[in-house]
Amino acid sequence: MHINDAVFLEDLCPKFRFREWRKSIHRFTGKSCIYCGKPSESIDHVLPRSQGGLSTTENCVPACLSCNGDKSDENALYWYRKQKFYDPRRAMAIRAWSEGDLRLAIRLLQWANPNFKVNHNYKKDESEFRAA
Ligand SMILES: [Zn+2]
Repeated sequence: MHINDAVFLEDLCPKFRFREWRKSIHRFTGKSCIYCGKPSESIDHVLPRSQGGLSTTENCVPACLSCNGDKSDENALYWYRKQKFYDPRRAMAIRAWSEGDLRLAIRLLQWANPNFKVNHNYKKDESEFRAA
């Protein structure tokens, strides 16, 4: 695979803060890859750093090593469209995430994957989303 983006992030931030931030990113999707749904083992930049992408939550999504490595320096949405496991709901989730709407992104991911593990009670979560 290509150079792991996470290594660079670690250089930018104090280690502890970085680790907490990274954990929180994985928590949003229940530790599953935003692209294919497999366990997420890395953080991927939606807009690659080589194209000016920043290491912010909006630009960083949980990804498995296979997707992260295969995507490499491509724009996430362009790359994702070409994948066999392409799912328009996930594509919308990626877009929502990169626009900073993590709530919408998570709802779309739940829709794409009924076995989504983060929230056990969908109905309850719905009301929480509305109240927020
Ligand atoms: Zn993946």
